Amino acid sequence: MSFLSDLAFEAALIARSLGDYFSGGGLRLGVTGLSRSGKTVFLTALVSNLLAGVRLPVLAASAEGRIARARLEPQPDDAVPRFAYEDHMASLAGPDRCWPRSTRRISQLRLTIEFESANRWGGRDASLAIDLVDYPGEWLLDLPLLDKAYATWAQETLVASETRARAPLSADWRAAIAGLDPHAEANEDSARAIAERFTAYLRRARESVYALSTLPPGRFLMPGDLEGSPALTFAPVPIEGDMIAPGTMGAMMERRYEAYKTFVVKPFFRDHFARLDRQIVLVDALTALNSGPAALADLENALSEVLGAFRAGRSSSLASIFRPRIDKILFAATKADHLHHTSHDRLEAILRLLTAKAIARAEGVGAEIDVIAMAAIRATREAEIRHHSETLEAIIGVPQKGETIGGEIFDGVAEAAVFPGELPEDPAAIFEGDAIALPEADNDWRFVRFRPPLLQRGQPAPQIRLDRALQFLIGDRLA
Ligand code: GDP
Repeated sequence: MSFLSDLAFEAALIARSLGDYFSGGGLRLGVTGLSRSGKTVFLTALVSNLLAGVRLPVLAASAEGRIARARLEPQPDDAVPRFAYEDHMASLAGPDRCWPRSTRRISQLRLTIEFESANRWGGRDASLAIDLVDYPGEWLLDLPLLDKAYATWAQETLVASETRARAPLSADWRAAIAGLDPHAEANEDSARAIAERFTAYLRRARESVYALSTLPPGRFLMPGDLEGSPALTFAPVPIEGDMIAPGTMGAMMERRYEAYKTFVVKPFFRDHFARLDRQIVLVDALTALNSGPAALADLENALSEVLGAFRAGRSSSLASIFRPRIDKILFAATKADHLHHTSHDRLEAILRLLTAKAIARAEGVGAEIDVIAMAAIRATREAEIRHHSETLEAIIGVPQKGETIGGEIFDGVAEAAVFPGELPEDPAAIFEGDAIALPEADNDWRFVRFRPPLLQRGQPAPQIRLDRALQFLIGDRLA
């Protein structure tokens, strides 16, 4: 990138930050996580609990009765789609209830909380406008690309594709590039074919039984509004050194990679990511646990990349002019209602272990980081079931249609008691066992997907530790 465009980029950032600074004390809260980690459900639950004025015991302002009311306000950023809160609530309501449509692109919602501040000289009416920004975590994985040359990225992606878990999934794409000469004349049809195969590999990795986390470019699987765009028509091809002659296939790939960075990654970083004050990163650790150690190791890497992005945001020269913005990051393992409460702390310990490397890497970033396990919407209740002379701890809910346990196929209507098994006391045990454990394998952790709970009209769903998440993320701003 040229020096001038660097300057323009940073000037835009400064202008934006000044704008935010002078517009008052709102809070921009980012909600992210890889696909199906629970972003839509989390945000819908957060808003519905606050709008309904539900008492949230761990959120101090709520427990102390200081929240007067919360309301939605018109979305201030005209160019960003609004988070479809009402549609998501409608999906969750009534006997035909189903989970809302998952996040596919960035969206935003403004929630204003009117509260009484807990000033030691007496209460004072105050309000906090929170801009909730929901975006695919896959996009964050792109941030490290900003200072990575095409040849380096191509090389790293190739090496990753040859690991044991990925090799069978990437074989088709690797075979295709083996026959491709990066020094041959650039050709659009070959570029499209190779990009399609590369995307198919990324998709297979994501959807495979191993539920591997996504590799960048994040938009290949989460294109948002760029679906089918030429900006996404490139792929890694092996290039030695810096010998890319103009007009060749290699040069074309490199140019598109650079364009992707300039026109896709950078605007997202500048217009959205750099403006966030706080961030929650949702993690579906249970699906990875279900898939075994390979998926867990993969998830650990992806989380490390995600936190790397937070550091990248700070390492720009802007950091010396402005105080780094994100001052709190919460990693949250979602869907804890799939477990008996005796395992909630263990799930938290597992996420702590999975994020330990990432957090160590982020040391010095200046943000406060915490880890929790929670369920934004609790779809199950707990029961003790006697089996012969034993008492077993079970969870009860309505399994989704088609889910199976022990050969029984559920119809999506009847309730069932499920014995989810216990998570290990020592979190490190999750990495033991076969290098790749198939979900069918007889491991201790089998999770069934449940339908959302049947709710009283207009009432938010029950939750687990959502209030703890909110206390960490916004509690101090409601003090
Ligand atoms: P997104 O892709 O990150 O927006 O993920 P969603 O919020 O759409 O969640 C994906 C799926 O995970 C949902 O359709 C639910 O099946 C499940 N899910 C998410 N959060 C919860 C939760 O708190 N409890 C339960 N039981 N399931 C959840």
